[in-house]
Amino acid sequence: MPKVLLTGGSGFIAAHILDILLARGYDVVTTVRSKAKGDAIFAAHPGIQRQKLSYVTVEDVAEDGAFDEVSTLQPRDPPIELQSLTVNVAQAVKSNPPLDYVIHTASPFHSNFTDPIKELLNPAINGTTGILRAIKAYAPTVRRVVITSSFAAIANSVSTPKVYDESSWNPVTWEEAVTEPVQAYRGSKTFAEKAAWKFVETENPHFDLATMNPPLVYGPVVHDLNSLDNLNTSNQRIRDFIQGKCTDDVLPPTGTFLWTDVRDLALAHVRAIEVPEAGGKRFLVTAGLYSMKRLVDAIRQTHPELSSKLPKNPVDDTPANIYGYDNSRATQLLGINFRTLEMSVQDTVASLLKIST
Ligand code: NDP
Repeated sequence: MPKVLLTGGSGFIAAHILDILLARGYDVVTTVRSKAKGDAIFAAHPGIQRQKLSYVTVEDVAEDGAFDEVSTLQPRDPPIELQSLTVNVAQAVKSNPPLDYVIHTASPFHSNFTDPIKELLNPAINGTTGILRAIKAYAPTVRRVVITSSFAAIANSVSTPKVYDESSWNPVTWEEAVTEPVQAYRGSKTFAEKAAWKFVETENPHFDLATMNPPLVYGPVVHDLNSLDNLNTSNQRIRDFIQGKCTDDVLPPTGTFLWTDVRDLALAHVRAIEVPEAGGKRFLVTAGLYSMKRLVDAIRQTHPELSSKLPKNPVDDTPANIYGYDNSRATQLLGINFRTLEMSVQDTVASLLKIST
């Protein structure tokens, strides 16, 4: 079976991608930041042979020299993914048997940073260019790289299009990204994706590229998580509602009025390595429009027992002239049949209720 390197395998989205890859029979080697996280992935997949699923520890994808070749292995050592070694990305891409595809999800997504360059921009940008450089130099069998970019690289608040599609780019500048906290993550995703397309254009590598550009991602948690205090960023809004932390009828701002379910997004990543025509394309992977009010309504509808914790008469902040979206590339080319908000919320809440605070 073809072999896939999946970066950031312990993350919310990557854990779903991993499950779909394994279910479809791929051999997978994933990167994690610690042995404990790798072992938790093994524990979640009992009975899967180490030849089908293995991990390597890459502590920081943005580390200086993370992509330079530093070989500590001897010729007769077992393949690196069968050892619990801390490696750099150059070693991670030198897999044996060799890799066919790379899915790069690892990138910071949070707002508790003090230094936007060190904590968000550098890991996103250098992590992306570094893995592309490493694949070009050390992984000649890789045919396609799929990168998890974001709708943050598409959204344009300066000149909002009537209908968003893959032709739109966020006009955020470096200056804005480093001085305005709200722009730091958006800048990290925009500059990282731009750097990836530029790499392909100027370096003419042996692989092609596809990017996933999802907006807010909700969905059940399948990665190792022992407390809702450590929940991934995008599910935190649902957590706060079900914990009764937002009871005011004036809800937190929706911000981005587009969303998608993590399982549909994970399938889109895998389809993007399977569909030949996906090469060279961005994908706006969205189920459609929503708002905080619709989210609260969906929680109340699917989990009426939580009603007392929710705002009673939530106000909808959807503007009358809300933008539209075109997700036809994801539905038609990748064959994604998007879940409804209610289906997603039903499963997300059920999953969060199983995890203690
Ligand atoms: P998670 O925080 O759950 O996953 C992020 C992953 O990246 C984790 O495995 C994390 O490892 C790893 N990571 C972060 N920084 C580094 C680093 N410097 N070196 C190595 N690994 C690192 O978030 P998501 O699953 O939501 O995000 C996955 C991807 O999807 C990101 O690229 C994000 O930008 C993108 N995305 C997410 C959206 C969403 O709504 N969730 C929307 C659009 C895009 P660890 O946990 O060990 O730190």
